[in-house]
Amino acid sequence: MQRRAALFLLACIPFFTACAIIPVSRPASQSASKSASVSVTVTRAQFLMGTLVEITAVAPSDAIAQASLTAGFQEIRRFENLLSTWIETSELSRVNQAAGLKPVGVSAESFDLLRRALEVAEYTEGGFNIAIGPAVRLWNIPEAPRVPTAMELDIAAQYVDYRRIHLDAGRRTVFLEKPGMRIDIGGIGKGFAAEKAAAVMREIGATGGLAAVAGDFRVFGRRADGTAWPIGIQHPREPGKILATLDATDEAVSTSGDYERYFMQDGVRYHHILDPKTLQPARLCQSVTIIAPDATTADALATGVFVMGPVRGLALAERLGLGAVIVDAGGDISISSHARNRVRLTH
Ligand code: AMP
Ligand code: MG
Repeated sequence: MQRRAALFLLACIPFFTACAIIPVSRPASQSASKSASVSVTVTRAQFLMGTLVEITAVAPSDAIAQASLTAGFQEIRRFENLLSTWIETSELSRVNQAAGLKPVGVSAESFDLLRRALEVAEYTEGGFNIAIGPAVRLWNIPEAPRVPTAMELDIAAQYVDYRRIHLDAGRRTVFLEKPGMRIDIGGIGKGFAAEKAAAVMREIGATGGLAAVAGDFRVFGRRADGTAWPIGIQHPREPGKILATLDATDEAVSTSGDYERYFMQDGVRYHHILDPKTLQPARLCQSVTIIAPDATTADALATGVFVMGPVRGLALAERLGLGAVIVDAGGDISISSHARNRVRLTH
């Protein structure tokens, strides 16, 4: 997770407009329903997983709301320690370090994440691919971005086959078949963390909540005034402008965009979502939003559908019965039938 981008996102805490999805600030009363039950709403933001994390809890008391926020952030920190490739001792770093050498035992949670990632790789016909690590390193967006040479990409191409990631459920081990392979969970980890944070918040007693890890949102229950969580999808070409809004409850909304992490060179936009077939930035979309029951699926599919493009991506969303809002390379918007009657375009 990328440190420099993270600082940039931190700079936008007060207005939250550079992030892929924007909670639409519609006032929710802090308390008081007619039934005299009182709800407290508390929001906190922290910098975790190299990005801005914002969590809101609705609970019967301030103590429960605060405790559920603290637990939510702790949970995300725990996953960062388990999965970050910036942390050399993390489980995932150990898996990458042992590429071509030996299987590495991992926790049930890491194993589950990797299993889910490989499932989505199959759904998306390889568009979503956590073996993309060597190519992500070459482009190094946004730390020290540059266009890699054709030869560098040809070499990297030998190490990005996700079918060479071997999961052994019995032993709970992960083995990367070739030395030089490297798992990158940038396209699924934030959703996974948001999902886990929401689960602990609920366990602690929050009746409603929103966990936003950059552009990956997980909501549950309702706001204090009984309404759903209003969520805005950022316009991919007009910073700070909302393209569309929707109201969400007990589900996840994730957006992948070519405007999140990119650099321009000779008038060409080079961004951080790579097409595993070419190892070049995927060119068919500007932005993809997926609405799904859980944030792990939403995050991974938003990245995968972005690579697949509007036609195959929309067909996949229809097949899976999920909401999708896809802005194609020319700026045209398509919305899957599951989302059509809930997403309001603002333009
Ligand atoms: P997201 O913002 O969720 O779309 O994730 C983008 C991040 O996922 C990138 O910064 C990379 O770390 C990683 N990534 C890039 N291309 C792919 C891909 N085709 N499949 C899976 N992960 C990718
Ligand atoms: Mg993603």
